[in-house]
Amino acid sequence: MQIIRVALDVPVNTIFDYVVPNAITPQVGVRVQVPFGRKMVIGIILEVVTHSSFSKEKLKTVKYIFNDIPALPESLLDLFKFCSEYYQYPLGGVVMHALPTRLRTSRPFIEKPQMKSQFCITNKGKLVDSSVISKRSLVKLRLLALFKESRTIHLSEIKQISAGAVKVLKEFLDVGWVVEFSPKLKIENDVPLILREEQATVVNEIAKELKQFNTWLLYGITGSGKTEIYMRLIALQLLEGRQTLVLIPEINLTPQLEAVFRARFPTTSIISIHSGLSPSERTKGWLQALYGTAKIILGTRLSVFTPISNLGLIIVDEEQDNSFKQQSGLCYSARDLAVFRAKYTNIPVILGSATPSLESYYNAIKNRYRMLRLYSRAADNASLPVIQCIDTRVVRVREGLSDSLIASLEKRIKLKQQSLIFINRRGFAPVLMCKSCTWTATCSRCASRLVVHLKDKNLCCHYCGYKKQIPSSCPECGDQDIVPFGQGTQRIESALKVRFPDARILRIDHDSMRRKAAWRKILEEIHGQRVDILVGTQILAKGHNFPNLGLVGVLNSDASLYSTDFRSAENLFSQLIQVAGRAGRASIAGDVLIQTKFPNHPLYQALRQHDYENLARMILAERRVANFPPYVYQALLRAEAPKLSTALNFLSHVMSLADPGKNIEMFDPVPAQLARLKGMDRAHLLIQSASRMELQKFLAVWRIKLTKISTRKIRWSLDIDPVEF
Ligand code: ADP
Ligand code: ZN
Ligand code: ZN
Repeated sequence: MQIIRVALDVPVNTIFDYVVPNAITPQVGVRVQVPFGRKMVIGIILEVVTHSSFSKEKLKTVKYIFNDIPALPESLLDLFKFCSEYYQYPLGGVVMHALPTRLRTSRPFIEKPQMKSQFCITNKGKLVDSSVISKRSLVKLRLLALFKESRTIHLSEIKQISAGAVKVLKEFLDVGWVVEFSPKLKIENDVPLILREEQATVVNEIAKELKQFNTWLLYGITGSGKTEIYMRLIALQLLEGRQTLVLIPEINLTPQLEAVFRARFPTTSIISIHSGLSPSERTKGWLQALYGTAKIILGTRLSVFTPISNLGLIIVDEEQDNSFKQQSGLCYSARDLAVFRAKYTNIPVILGSATPSLESYYNAIKNRYRMLRLYSRAADNASLPVIQCIDTRVVRVREGLSDSLIASLEKRIKLKQQSLIFINRRGFAPVLMCKSCTWTATCSRCASRLVVHLKDKNLCCHYCGYKKQIPSSCPECGDQDIVPFGQGTQRIESALKVRFPDARILRIDHDSMRRKAAWRKILEEIHGQRVDILVGTQILAKGHNFPNLGLVGVLNSDASLYSTDFRSAENLFSQLIQVAGRAGRASIAGDVLIQTKFPNHPLYQALRQHDYENLARMILAERRVANFPPYVYQALLRAEAPKLSTALNFLSHVMSLADPGKNIEMFDPVPAQLARLKGMDRAHLLIQSASRMELQKFLAVWRIKLTKISTRKIRWSLDIDPVEF
């Protein structure tokens, strides 16, 4: 009897057995339609076996086996299994999470991705000695000869050679002798830069072991030319006909990097996969990766699950970025999954950063990762910016801006250089406060404070989207003296406008960043020198090159020094290094001014010296003493209920069901940092252990008990390696 074991999107952590008629040969990694309860559902075959633990009578028969797309690679199925076990999430849910929605329906996918109509030879193809091809393979010989003498060949010409020529073309594509050529692409004459010595060392080190698993931590200061290194290694992959997966944190960074890659590899098919795509766009890209036609796959965290038939290399840029971690549902870390995926595929993975996450840095110290360093800026004349603190206990500050910062802004405007005012998000948002009774406007659905939007004259909850009008007087005491409090981007913008009436000031907020078209316009404004002062949050800090930027001013960063979140110092440092890195990229010597009440704080001291490692070691020492990650492994059980007591009671109850053993520590249930969200109260309990394995074992057993409790009023989820509390 043929049995297939199928992953289905049901909230049960098991896979399901179905009978397959003998006339059909089922294949692992293929989509099927099967009966489940009274419905028909879509699943993926994970195993083909001959026995089932269920009796033959109980087993149902598969309804339909799809052959519209190739089977998913086995290494990807291994990744799904790992992901399910590690993140304590049902396997079917993991598989379906990864599958584009279009492929989760029972409609077969008919449109094959279209072959682009032009092809051209690669360097690898040029080097092929035609004597290695059998004399009888006339079509092969003719096609290769044709490619060698012409730059691009049209598909119609290839079809004219013979009926079998298209098949041969596919073979050539597979071995990387030819590539698709898209005439739509603008070919810029982008010649690779001459590598600096330290860049060359890095490329050589990794190139030496290009065909085996290794986790490389590429720790290079901002502007040290990591992108050039990525492109050199991608080029080596392309020569072999292998694909590269590049993970990046932000959607808005995708077009920029995509453009750089396209300029360098004009004849290569590059796709980008992110949540901003329509379902059909996503499916198309996904299939191009699966068919092997897309050679460079660029994407945000979700793209770590893209099926890639001939994957040769994974790159995770800005690996420290928290957006690689999904915060709800399947709480995976795309960076960590990338490492496991590379391991299963036996290929190298590169984690790149100017401020590695402490987890990765620690792994490098422990020799689990191999660290490669870049110490200096790559571009000629580019130097690191000078970072200084403005002691706001001494200097006069008006409307959030110190006199020294104003003077520096003035100087840069005279020099016709751009400045960036960076406002740390934590506590940046202006809230409405009554001066006489200190009442503040809060959201009636969440516990969070409402943010004042002066332009729209309303108050808005940044967590749940709730909006209301600004009241004319205090609802508590009736006083009319209610004012926005805190330094929002809008308030700073207004203050700057008053101070510099002739300057062109551009504020960048979340809304303007989200719209892709708007963002492109903003970049054009900046690069076209039509902006003097930029005002914005950390979103501005990431990955962009602003060649004419001379000054960066940092406001409000102190809030993160003494936060309850043990990761906030690490995050602040990385953010400030990144934002400082925007300055002094080209020939302009950059200045970074940080307004602070604690200029002697070790974090600012390390920052002034651009000394991440020193700070990292210091924070690690603190973490060791405090028993925090990376010295322990953590998991968080989150619960949400209409009432806080319900959530807390639930957590206490499940805690009493646990049998943690002596190497597992469980803490008491507490309300979450943001105790109320979208009308639900939130609480969690923390579990940690020095042994990842023991923690995993414990969670697996405990989770089964959890799934058996009736939880009508409660939603719970497990977050492994949580980064937000
Ligand atoms: P990172 O990603 O490490 O912050 P980038 O890759 O953005 O740095 O490189 C910073 C700048 O240095 C870019 O403008 C890039 O073109 C330039 N650059 C990189 N490598 C070289 C090189 N070998 N010679 C000259 N310029 C370089
Ligand atoms: Zn709210
Ligand atoms: Zn009041």
